[in-house]
Amino acid sequence: MSQVPAKAGISTKAVHAGQEPDPKTGAVMTPIYQTSTYAQESLGHHKGYEYARTHNATRAALEGNLAALEGGAHGFCFGSGLAATNALIQTLSAGDHVVCGNNTYGGTYRLFEKVWKRHGLQFTFVDCSDAAAVEAAFTSATKLIWLETPTNPLMQLADIRDVSARAHQRGIKVAVDNTFMTPYFQRPLELGADLVMHSVTKYLNGHSDMIGGALITSDEALATQLRFLQNAAGAVPGPMDCFLCLRGTKTLAVRMKQHDANARELAALLEKHPRVSKVFYPGLASHPQHELAKRQASGFGGMISFIPGDGSLAAGEKVFNRFQLFTRAESLGGVESLVCHPASMTHASVPRESRLAMGFADGLLRLSVGIEDVADLLADLDQALQDV
Ligand SMILES: *Cc1c(COP(=O)(O)O)cnc(C)c1O
Repeated sequence: MSQVPAKAGISTKAVHAGQEPDPKTGAVMTPIYQTSTYAQESLGHHKGYEYARTHNATRAALEGNLAALEGGAHGFCFGSGLAATNALIQTLSAGDHVVCGNNTYGGTYRLFEKVWKRHGLQFTFVDCSDAAAVEAAFTSATKLIWLETPTNPLMQLADIRDVSARAHQRGIKVAVDNTFMTPYFQRPLELGADLVMHSVTKYLNGHSDMIGGALITSDEALATQLRFLQNAAGAVPGPMDCFLCLRGTKTLAVRMKQHDANARELAALLEKHPRVSKVFYPGLASHPQHELAKRQASGFGGMISFIPGDGSLAAGEKVFNRFQLFTRAESLGGVESLVCHPASMTHASVPRESRLAMGFADGLLRLSVGIEDVADLLADLDQALQDV
C-alpha cells in the first residue's frame, strides 16, 4: 500500500494515504476501475480480485485513505451515509438495544424508528450532551451508542471520551457520526469511540457531486462483520464516485481550514447583529459547550445555525429568500455556501412541539459556510438580514 509514514500529518495523509501510482502505467491518480469482474489465469488462480461487489481497487484506495485520516485500521465504503449506518445496524440482532441522540440526523432517526424497530431492535433517544443521561438509558440489552457531535441544527456536543468510558464499562460499543467535523478537526477513535461513520457526500467529497458513506474502525471483530456485510448485503459505491471522493479528500485540509476561518467570521457577525436573536456555533465563547469543543476537536467547522428576528417563520423566510450568494439548498460540506431552512427542509418530519421544546424555532436557518472570499459572504449575510 502507500508509503505514507504512520506518523505523517493529516494533510499528508489526505493527499497520499491509500494510494500509490498505478503499478502498470505509473498513473499518479488511482484509475477508475470500471469493471464488474476480473479474468482468472486458471482454475482457482487470480490476482485477488474476483467480482467487483467484493473487491474494487478504486474503492480500496478510498477505504485506505479514509481509514488513515481517522486513524483507524479498517475502512469500508458504501453507496450513501445511510447505507453505511444500515450496515452497522445489521451487525445487531433482534432484541438488541441502541441508545441514540435525540437531535440526530433525520434520516438516521427514520432508519432506526421506521425500519429497524420493525425488525425487533429497540432504540432510546436521549440528550447526548448529558453523558449521565446516556448512561441512565443503558439496559442489559444495550449493544451500541450512536452519537452525532455536533448535532444538526442545534450544534450540541457529546463528550466522546466520557460517553465511551461509561459505555466500555458495560461492554457497549460507541459509534460516532463524524460528518460535520471530519477527521481534520475531530478523530473519535482517538477519543475512545469504536467506530466512525461518515456521509462522505459532505465535507470528505467536498464538491457536492456524489453520494457516499463510510465506516472506519480498529476493532477487528467489528471489521470482520462489516467486511462480511459490505459484501453480503452489497450496498457498495461505484468506482467513479470513489474516485470523485478521493479527489475531494486530497484537499480536505485546505478546505476545512477555510470553512472554519470563514464560519468564525460569520458567527461573530451574527452574534453581534441586532436582528439575530440566537446563534448556534461551537466556536463562539458563548456556546455552552465551547470548552468541550476546544478539548475534543482542533477547530469548529463550517456549520452555523441562527434565529433571525423574533424566530417566526415569517422572519426566517424573509432572510432565507433574500440571500444572493448563498444557495438555498439542503446538504452541506461543499465548497459553495448554502443556506437551509431546517424546519421545512431537512427536519420537516420532526414534530413542531418537539422542535420548539429544543429551542429550534420555526424561522431558524442553517448555513453551510463555503470557501468563497469571506468579505463576499459577510456582505451577503448582512444584506439578507436587513429589516427582518
Ligand atoms: C447527510 C448526512 C447523513 C446521511 O448521509 P447520506 O450520504 O445522505 O446518506 C448522515 N449524517 C449526517 C450528519 C449527515 O449530514
